[in-house]
Amino acid sequence: MKVLILGSGGREHALVWKIAQSPLVDEVFSAPGNPGMDKVGPCFDLDPTDLTAVQELALQITPDLIIIGPEAPLAAGASDALRARGFDVFGPSQQAAQLESSKGFAKDLMKKYGVPTAEYGRFSDLTEALDYLETIEGPYVIKADGLASGKGVVIVESQDEAENTVEEFMTGKFGDASAEIVIEEFMTGEEASIFVMTDGEGAIYLPAAQDHKRVGDGDVGPNTGGMGAYAPAPIVDARIMELVQTLIVEPMLSGMADDGMPYQGVLYVGIMVTESGPKVVEFNARFGDPECQALMAGLPGDIVPALLVCSTGGLVSSHASLCEMMGLSDFRPSATVVIAAEGYPDKPVKGTIIKGVDGADRIEGVTVFHAGTDINDKNEMVAAGGRVLGVTATGDSLKAAIDKAYEGVGAIDWPGGFFRNDIGHRALK
Ligand code: ATP
Repeated sequence: MKVLILGSGGREHALVWKIAQSPLVDEVFSAPGNPGMDKVGPCFDLDPTDLTAVQELALQITPDLIIIGPEAPLAAGASDALRARGFDVFGPSQQAAQLESSKGFAKDLMKKYGVPTAEYGRFSDLTEALDYLETIEGPYVIKADGLASGKGVVIVESQDEAENTVEEFMTGKFGDASAEIVIEEFMTGEEASIFVMTDGEGAIYLPAAQDHKRVGDGDVGPNTGGMGAYAPAPIVDARIMELVQTLIVEPMLSGMADDGMPYQGVLYVGIMVTESGPKVVEFNARFGDPECQALMAGLPGDIVPALLVCSTGGLVSSHASLCEMMGLSDFRPSATVVIAAEGYPDKPVKGTIIKGVDGADRIEGVTVFHAGTDINDKNEMVAAGGRVLGVTATGDSLKAAIDKAYEGVGAIDWPGGFFRNDIGHRALK
């Protein structure tokens, strides 16, 4: 079969890498892809939010399965456009993807279905938002309703700062994305990400993962897209996983199906493990990046049958065999260390030369996923983005996987890059 993947990051490279290993798959295409994905199969240069271009490419390639990696094409309606042309698509409809593209939408659904999450108010009127701030206590969590590349959440201690943030957001800081906002109760606990593959009815739970949002060791400095990840995350034990299933995922999936917007694809459940159990911090409509890299590397089996069934339906009856084919019960502890360009996240320096990636890739148990690389006129690999490489490794234990990933990092010669030295510190403590 032929598979097409939309996207160009480390997440998509990991998906392409995993999918290409399936005996069911003859060819994997990427659009737009990156130099790492190009080594696995042909890449087509297009903007994945350009629905006409995406449909045209699909009609040209006629893939048996299309996977939408990032949130932007999902929010733009790429799944619907491709399904309308008769393709099987792994990724939620535009309506269901609002779980990520509108925080207010997600909060309202959680409230409707009784899913545990922080108390909140949803506002499109500035005066009402400022009045609401008077009625609550800090820390104040203020969120832009729409997609803001991970920058649309601000947490402040004082009411003055909260008022300023609310004003800034609602008067155009992120344009339309912050014209409406959500103000939330502050939750305390440890965060984890749970990925659920679903056809809208059945659900396959991947091992819980943990990401590292802050740029610096010890979780300091500005937020990033994620500087590293590992799985399984020990904070999510069997009891927490069961609560996530019964209190969060099952009510969301059945509620959305009943409301005529079944959720198909992967549901990213960002939770806070609080004293009173897991509560939802956020939903995303796609795999996390870099969690996806660690998850794909750790799965020993074939993920393609499960991706296909999630796209076409019938997961409930085939659940056990799909989990077995994926090798879910033999998941190998796995870790990803992101190497980013100096200056990331504010002003990453582009164009610096990167050497040693092939050498790192050849280390047993190590795979290097490309996220922001390019090839220059002299055929040298150069940095072309913020997060540039995701050095991923598996091992018999989480410690072994993390050590191996750092061995891979050590084999890369890139003075213009930096990485965190403490990926996995919560699990190892
Ligand atoms: P992402 O880049 O992960 O998609 P986002 O912009 O969608 O982020 P959220 O995940 O909702 O935003 O929030 C970002 C971070 O802010 C969370 O990972 C968490 O650390 C913190 N956070 C969000 N909501 C709360 C809350 N109610 N209480 C405490 N911390 C919170």
